[in-house]
Amino acid sequence: MEEKKISIPHIFGSHVFNDDVMQERLPKDVYRSLRKTIDQGKDLDLTVANAVASAMKDWAVELGATHFTHWFQPLNGVTAEKHDSFITPAADGRVIMQFSGKELIRGEPDASSFPSGGLRATFEARGYTAWDPTSYAFVKGGSLYIPTAFCSYSGEVLDKKTPLLRSMEDLSQAAVRILRLFGDTQTRRVTTTVGAEQEYFLVDKALFDRRPDLRFCGRTLLGAKAPKGQELDDHYFGSIKPRVAAFMKELDEELWKLGILAKTKHNEVAPAQHELAPIFTTSNIATDHNQLTMETMRNVAARHGLVCLLHEKPFAGVNGSGKHNNWAISTDSGKNLLDPGKSPAENAQFLLFLAAVIKGVDEYQDLLRISVASAGNDHRLGANEAPPAIISMFLGDELTAVLDAIEKGKTYGGAAAGTLETGVHVLPDLTRDTTDRNRTSPFAFTGNKFEFRSLGSAISIACPNIMLNTIVAEELTQFAKALEGSKDVKKDAIKLVRQVVKEHKRIIFNGDGYSQAWVREAKRRGLLNLKTTVDALPHYMDDKNVKLFADHKIYTRAEMEARYETILEEYAKTLNIEALTLSEMVRRDVIPAVCGYVGKLARGVKNQRLAVEGLACRAQSALIAKLSNLLDAAYDQVETLDMLAEGSKTQKGVLPRAKYFKTKIIPAMEALRATVDAMEVDVPNALWPYPSYGDLMFRV
Ligand code: ADP
Ligand code: MG
Repeated sequence: MEEKKISIPHIFGSHVFNDDVMQERLPKDVYRSLRKTIDQGKDLDLTVANAVASAMKDWAVELGATHFTHWFQPLNGVTAEKHDSFITPAADGRVIMQFSGKELIRGEPDASSFPSGGLRATFEARGYTAWDPTSYAFVKGGSLYIPTAFCSYSGEVLDKKTPLLRSMEDLSQAAVRILRLFGDTQTRRVTTTVGAEQEYFLVDKALFDRRPDLRFCGRTLLGAKAPKGQELDDHYFGSIKPRVAAFMKELDEELWKLGILAKTKHNEVAPAQHELAPIFTTSNIATDHNQLTMETMRNVAARHGLVCLLHEKPFAGVNGSGKHNNWAISTDSGKNLLDPGKSPAENAQFLLFLAAVIKGVDEYQDLLRISVASAGNDHRLGANEAPPAIISMFLGDELTAVLDAIEKGKTYGGAAAGTLETGVHVLPDLTRDTTDRNRTSPFAFTGNKFEFRSLGSAISIACPNIMLNTIVAEELTQFAKALEGSKDVKKDAIKLVRQVVKEHKRIIFNGDGYSQAWVREAKRRGLLNLKTTVDALPHYMDDKNVKLFADHKIYTRAEMEARYETILEEYAKTLNIEALTLSEMVRRDVIPAVCGYVGKLARGVKNQRLAVEGLACRAQSALIAKLSNLLDAAYDQVETLDMLAEGSKTQKGVLPRAKYFKTKIIPAMEALRATVDAMEVDVPNALWPYPSYGDLMFRV
């Protein structure tokens, strides 16, 4: 059969109301005012909005859309949508397709069921969505999707997009101040850019359906290790199996239609694990696109008889899934401010931006850790596969040596290095090799960007980017204040860099982040090691953090409290669902199955004894004894688990409740699992109620 050829440039962005479409379909003056809104944040008046809405509707209807939806990102880290059709009654009982500027600009979803951490109770019950024109509308599944922000009527932010946009704006202002100091009079705006590499697992749908843990929790709660795992390193970058390749091909095409720059695909370390990386774009669009990517992965998988698992730890004993957040800052003329550059002037400016990131990451380690905290990600961080829970920065030997020289007031003696009369060091050419070797660091400088590697595969990238943008905006603002009025900016900038290196070099670590030695060393350096969500979250409301977000008008204290509550609540709810699922699986499937097998063995022993008098049946008797003991243990452990789960209801307050789940429920689940996994290896495949790890990971 001949393969159908598709023209990628033709399909790319074909479902996106992008700049080309706008130019083509909007009257010139309408296009110009919309562009002003998009580029400069100018308000949009209603006549313009009406014209845009009408053009959008015609375009969407041509692509088969019948509905529109305000698409938003509530606090629970997923996306939400409610669809309204374009139909409007006309004369004679007919309908016409209509879409007004008002409907485009603002929506009123019934917001009462979205998590708000108590915000809406305290303030105003209703919420509304507001069009974000900086992220293009698109058509998907018969609907026109309009990216929106979500707020309460009294202005409290109920979503992740609004603070992200605010933090981008804030960083822009601070960065432009710095650029002015270095003689840049042109740049009006800088944007943070993000490329989010997404890991995922694919499993067979029929097998998935037979596992309640996968269906309810997205991860296995039970399962003995398969004889083979990832030890042969034969999956990473391995050849892609036909069924997976077909999935990936369709996924790329679907993403391209939505204007998502899907670029790289490959197998990951664990069996059945894969990765997709897009080309970077602005943080805001990257966040929307990452959500769309995750959703499209799920939908396309279903069409191939597969299920896409985005959980951070679907299987014990092999690697879990993360998301690498590549982050940089770019001017409106496209210059990357984290690129070391060639000339000394650029070097000093680069070193100042670098110092801002170093100081920010050190002072706000807790916020970065919190931004990736979830019950799922707790399985990864610090578990010898993902970066440790300790936040540190990798700069590579060369850059570290440059900073070291600056700190000591010496000339850097590297190959291509020299020094200028101002004492500004000329940076050596940083080859990718010297910057990207270490894969164990949570926060690595990779040539011209930082790669924040602690993100879990399932989380929204909004929060980590809000934190990053805000802390760097804070440091740049401090630097701008210190340098404005300086007679010799380059010299004073390097002085500032020296001071930052002196005070914050403890955050720089180029060694093996997985080693126990680093855990001890980090402790000695006074770095935080916030192992779990429950350890990390209490730091969120620390005075310095409340002040940071208030100063930069990102969050009010009440909005922060709402987020704090939401994260801890979600943690407890997730673990509660896991505990109930595990209990049900053990009571209804595992114990009955093992009892059945033991009964069968016992009957076998009896029958053999009847047949051959005095026969010892050693193996069978031993198995009966072993499994009976394990059954007793499992029974006691599931009773304990249920009792503890019941006890969680009496815990008052989100933090004590979350702590209870961490300290009581998790150990009880682990103990029960160990017992069940020990039984699994002694029960025939045909009698075990669930597909095994081997089936799940090696059957696609
Ligand atoms: P690797 O992970 O092997 O270092 P690359 O450097 O090619 O791979 O890119 C990884 C990701 O980083 C990609 O998603 C890429 O688009 C993104 N990226 C590259 N440059 C930037 C940048 N300036 N800002 C944000 N992300 C970037
Ligand atoms: Mg990477």
